[in-house]
Amino acid sequence: MAKKRDFYEVLGVDRNATTDEIKKAYRKLAVKYHPDKNPGDKEAEEKFKEIAEAYAILSDPEKRRRYDQFGHAGTQTSGNYGFDFSDFDLADALRQFMEEGFGFGFGDIFGSGSGGARRRRVSRKGSDLQIKLKLTLEEIATGVTKKIKVKKKSACSECNGTGAAKYSRTISCPVCHGSGEIRQVSRSLFGQFVNVTTCHRCNGEGQVIENPCHSCHGTGLIDGTKTIEVNVPAGVSTGNYITLRGEGNAGVRGGQAGDLIVYIEELPHEIFQRHGDDVVLVLPISFPTAALGGTVEVPTLTGRAKLKIAPGTQSGKILRMRAKGIPHVRGTGIGDQLVQIQIYVPTHLNSEERAILEKLSNSENLDPTKNSQKSIFEKFREALNL
Ligand SMILES: [Zn+2]
Ligand SMILES: [Zn+2]
Repeated sequence: MAKKRDFYEVLGVDRNATTDEIKKAYRKLAVKYHPDKNPGDKEAEEKFKEIAEAYAILSDPEKRRRYDQFGHAGTQTSGNYGFDFSDFDLADALRQFMEEGFGFGFGDIFGSGSGGARRRRVSRKGSDLQIKLKLTLEEIATGVTKKIKVKKKSACSECNGTGAAKYSRTISCPVCHGSGEIRQVSRSLFGQFVNVTTCHRCNGEGQVIENPCHSCHGTGLIDGTKTIEVNVPAGVSTGNYITLRGEGNAGVRGGQAGDLIVYIEELPHEIFQRHGDDVVLVLPISFPTAALGGTVEVPTLTGRAKLKIAPGTQSGKILRMRAKGIPHVRGTGIGDQLVQIQIYVPTHLNSEERAILEKLSNSENLDPTKNSQKSIFEKFREALNL
């Protein structure tokens, strides 16, 4: 591409020109070089694009400041705006021309259309999208980056979201004749009623595109799917949501895109139960381990860990493993893992085991009725006041 001309030179204005002077200069030139007035004229089209680009920069105080400071290099940024100025194509220029209504219907500027249109086709913000994201407790414990496929409307690439076919212009709405409203008069015994509704053809804008884009049927939007990465911090829970700004449906005619709201849903876990940021695990251990004490391996959300069992540990006892739970989503710190001990009773015994246990069963020391501080029968009698 040829070296860009100075934007002030393009619009033929002084470097100190006011916003108003810039607007007037743009309007005059844009009408002169508009493709509708110069069908098939490539040079006029280039001029029209150049004028549009110059105006886009100089009409925006922030971009103008950057341009004054850094020249063309100061305007080569992309991302924050609906389009990238380093690639300002004809559709962008036409869209800008449509958006800059200057209070005129374009029918008025070009001497066509029925006139009377004083509304401009406004850009609209895209709608928000909501999606559910199911996470395992392990993913919640560590935080996770998830790729999700989202069905959403994007700006039509054919018309750059304008909804207009190439060289198509905006005309006064044939249904409401530019008023944006439909008035229906009805008479009754009690007098005359005027019912005013928004025009269904132009959505109250008063103007429609003469030749809508074939790809998007004039909406400027096309359906598609996009894969989006979501960074989920550790410690989230069901009902939390993450808002991804600008990842919702594309806006209409260059309007801001909506947001994508990702709702977190925690999947139930097979062995862990969540209580706030603590997790509870029921751990079966053998009777010998409970009686003799020892070290056992315990699953945690982040892998295996060792747990000491004191001699004489009772069934139902809860042991706390510090910081083995879920990180607090706000602030620092991690919840605990609570391990509830359950004495495992085997369902099958071999003859050797049976012999040992039968021998043990005669031991008074193993008889809870004789070794609890109070036997269950004493407690029972007390409760009944016998
Ligand atoms: Zn209408
Ligand atoms: Zn289109």
